Amino acid sequence: RFITLEGGEGAGKSTQAKRLAHRLEALGLELLLTREPGGTEGAEAIRELIVHGPADRWRPLTELYLFLAARDDHLERAILPALKRGVWVVCDRFADSSRVYQGYAGEVGLETVDALHAPLLVGHEPDLTLLLDLPVEVGMARCSARSSRAGQTAALPDGSTARFEAKDRTYHERVREGFLMLAAREAARFVVIDAAKDEEQVAEAIWRAVTSRFGL
Ligand code: C5P
Repeated sequence: RFITLEGGEGAGKSTQAKRLAHRLEALGLELLLTREPGGTEGAEAIRELIVHGPADRWRPLTELYLFLAARDDHLERAILPALKRGVWVVCDRFADSSRVYQGYAGEVGLETVDALHAPLLVGHEPDLTLLLDLPVEVGMARCSARSSRAGQTAALPDGSTARFEAKDRTYHERVREGFLMLAAREAARFVVIDAAKDEEQVAEAIWRAVTSRFGL
């Protein structure tokens, strides 16, 4: 089974991905917890190229190719082999992030992202995508709290917070809207979770969605 977590900044995806992974492991399931961009040696190296340097280091289409290159490596070398062995995969961000960040809210456009995804993704969509949805201002407040706890620039070890802060409020509203649009477009794959609730309640809502989807 292949489960992805998606959502905007400050939604708590990484925390909830870990909690979900622990809970599935406690059932005795074999599990791979991974993230994008990254998840393999090659894809983590590509992540460095994406998140470091000035926000305008790459043209939008060049940057999309970097995300896709990282995704291809991750999918072919980590996710698909794991699924083949019967391992459950929990992935923090996947193709929907590109559809939204580079596509719907970005400069590349969703049609181009969909077209370039086709050869890579055919037959490999997740079985379940948990969309952690919350108002932009709540996510932003959580991120700035995280930044000040960690001492500004070092908020996230690899500088992805700097990337986030380079984008304006309107962009993040588009990101939220884009994820909700995808959830409506592919209603069978998505479950929308109210991520403005506290960590415990979000974890419970995720667990209910996963257990009912897979009959656990
Ligand atoms: O998941 P995480 O918050 O670590 O993502 C790192 C950064 O990359 C975030 O700022 C996110 O907005 C951005 N991102 C992106 N396009 C993707 C995936 C992530 O712009 N496809």
